Amino acid sequence: MSDQNPVFIPGPTNIPDRLRRAMQVQTMDHRSPAFAGALAPVRAGCKRVFGTETGEIVLFPASGTGGWEAAITNTLSPGDTVLVARYGMFSHRWIDMCQRHGLDVRIIECPWGSGAPADRFAEALQADSGHEIKAVLVTHNETATGVRSDIAAVRAAMDGAGHPALLMVDCVSSLASMPFEMDGWGVDIAVSGSQKGFMLMTGMAIVAVSPKALEAVEAATLPRTYFDFRDMLGAYANGGFPYTPPLQLIFGMDESLKMLFEEGLENVYARHTRLAGGVRAAVNAWGLRLVAQSPDLYSDTVSAICVPEGFDSNALVNHAFATYGMSFGTGLGEMNGRAFRIGHLGSLTDAMVLSGLAVIEMAMADLDYPITPGSGVAAAQAHYRATAGTQRAQA
Ligand code: PLP
Repeated sequence: MSDQNPVFIPGPTNIPDRLRRAMQVQTMDHRSPAFAGALAPVRAGCKRVFGTETGEIVLFPASGTGGWEAAITNTLSPGDTVLVARYGMFSHRWIDMCQRHGLDVRIIECPWGSGAPADRFAEALQADSGHEIKAVLVTHNETATGVRSDIAAVRAAMDGAGHPALLMVDCVSSLASMPFEMDGWGVDIAVSGSQKGFMLMTGMAIVAVSPKALEAVEAATLPRTYFDFRDMLGAYANGGFPYTPPLQLIFGMDESLKMLFEEGLENVYARHTRLAGGVRAAVNAWGLRLVAQSPDLYSDTVSAICVPEGFDSNALVNHAFATYGMSFGTGLGEMNGRAFRIGHLGSLTDAMVLSGLAVIEMAMADLDYPITPGSGVAAAQAHYRATAGTQRAQA
């Protein structure tokens, strides 16, 4: 199939040529001062993107899942209680990981399409007068349902209950695309990856750790070696890594950060809002509905779209790929067969998004979906025309 088309899966995202070129570098001695010189600005730049001055950035050669594991194994001990809400595939997988690590997981079950329920967190935390709960885990942007949760509200629930638990946040599919305020929201550990907002290949878990979380590392007894924050921070202090680093990805990160800062983080966020607005206008024009239950929950990086009764979203995604060579996201977990996803994050312009909307519209028309061909594209065009000039192209 064509490798000319952008992908519309919600990560890994399209890699701009500038970043592909930046990663084409010859091997360098990772124990040399030159490597130390390359690493330092990457960690400093990441701090800006996470919105932290006091946090430490730790980069693991791993994917986001490795970041989850680093977060829990560095700060918790077997049998510790954690509080988590389940409202999609990724919150579910983090829960599963906690259970497999022998943690006592208190799960707040929520309908898929809803977000982190700050009121129910508040109730659970207020009832926990003995402070058994050691950490609250939240998925900021649930990629399976296209739902963005309010992290500040979760922090307010914790503060309202006077609860000292750590706040751990998965921002794998939101960081560098939607606003994230680690310090402002009182996040203790934030976990992300290289292959979404940073527009790079998969392979680096990017973790930000607050001073409070670093204190918890000393008492925590879950086993960890590869993911030990202390080994990593100790090695950084000497300018390197405790093991062989993914050199090319670090060069890619440096260039990615430059691109993000050249565009301006606020402009990056505004571009994602605008791109998402066009996709939502198309969904509305097709007469379909989003999995996300209400506008305050709509994600600016991914839209999960319910297919009409009697249709199979897997068949739609397969048809779009087989016939037009374009990739869209399938429905995950509870949404398997019931929803498809359009990823609209990373290196994208409105013109690129319009191509994706045109293709999925053709695929729906081919499969006799009850939509009017052209209606979604026209609605998105109207949105982009009305908001033109609010984005700088970035590709
Ligand atoms: N969390 C979220 C919200 C995700 O979207 C993903 C992957 O798509 C992950 C975690 C897992 O990350 P990875 O696939 O990089 O291990």
